[in-house]
Amino acid sequence: MTYRRETVTSYVGGVPVGSAHPVVVQSMTNTDTADAEATASQVAQLYQAGSEIVRITVNNKAAAQAVPEVKTRLTDLGLNVPLVGDFHFNGHILLREFPGAAEALDKYRINPGNVGTGKRHDENFVTMIEVAKAYDKPVRIGVNWGSLDAQLLTKLMDENAASARPREARDVMVEAMLESALLSAELAETHGLGHDKIILSAKVSNARDLWEVYRLLAARCDYPLHLGLTEAGMGTKGVVASAAGLSVLLAEGIGDTIRVSLTPEPGAPRTHEVEAAQEILAALDLRKFAPTVTACPGCGRTTSTLFQEMARDIQAYLKAQMPGWKEQYPGVEGLRVAVMGCVVNGPGESKHADIGISLPGTGEDPRAPVYRDGQLVGVLQGKEIVAEFNRMVDAYVAARYGSPVKL
Ligand code: SF4
Repeated sequence: MTYRRETVTSYVGGVPVGSAHPVVVQSMTNTDTADAEATASQVAQLYQAGSEIVRITVNNKAAAQAVPEVKTRLTDLGLNVPLVGDFHFNGHILLREFPGAAEALDKYRINPGNVGTGKRHDENFVTMIEVAKAYDKPVRIGVNWGSLDAQLLTKLMDENAASARPREARDVMVEAMLESALLSAELAETHGLGHDKIILSAKVSNARDLWEVYRLLAARCDYPLHLGLTEAGMGTKGVVASAAGLSVLLAEGIGDTIRVSLTPEPGAPRTHEVEAAQEILAALDLRKFAPTVTACPGCGRTTSTLFQEMARDIQAYLKAQMPGWKEQYPGVEGLRVAVMGCVVNGPGESKHADIGISLPGTGEDPRAPVYRDGQLVGVLQGKEIVAEFNRMVDAYVAARYGSPVKL
């Protein structure tokens, strides 16, 4: 059993978020929310890729007006997607003026760094809390390094400058992030929002800073925490930075819902961020989403690109089967498959998997032994190795995860 920091449970459109429940995968659209058709379509893609909660921007009146239509379009597709509205600057106005949006959304993300200044700050924040109460919605109080509450930061900086032993400016910034989140949560509760209706986040763009901020935040409250590296970047850099930032905290039991904030490559699907989030949780053994394929990297012992093609084709086959398998074979996401490149580690690794194949390396007999539950069950050869192995995987899945035949 993996350790998780203890939290209350908050429900976002029926999805439980908190330590008693699996870590939830979230994502965010990049469409103009006012375009309800495009937004609903992207939400559907993200949801079908495995995002259990999807956030949409609600930045102006046209976007707020479109929210109920986005929800309806998803419902018409048979998709019950928990939707989060992302509010900045004018959330207090939009939530009050567009009750349809307030009703349709399943959570409001509030950034206390930009709800207003002076006495307007608390007034605007409380207005959003009153709407959340009226519609029985949870909120995420999402602090961000890049839009920190300037007033609070100035106050803490001034106090620090006047103290006998001033701290580093960076430490004061960290403290300002924590206080911004925690004081806002306190203010929300003072105005009657339930303790279990609050999720906190405090995002920064560097892994080491993230670890520090979240460790401190986790120690000071029992709210569920949304984890993410803000502005992680593009491609491999973004995935690796997010994995580094999130994994250390998740391994310490910190984090109840995650998002990988990738900048999409032009033309690339938005769903990459969902895949990355799932892979992080799967690598940490916190969740299982699809069968695990152990494939060796290949080396000078593998023949040409044949091994790479076979490994790729087998993985693609497994991925393509998952939608149907998930319905038909509960638990199949725990399947472990090995696709190995030669006799050095191939048989050994294949024996550790549920089903594995050891492909022939350079100079080896052109034969591929297949192991099932650690036992050699056949040797494949010829052009149909991949197809035959996939058939053996099918048979294994049906036998292991299929319902027992009723007599
Ligand atoms: S299993 Fe064989 S082919 Fe694969 S990396 Fe190891 S030595 Fe190379």
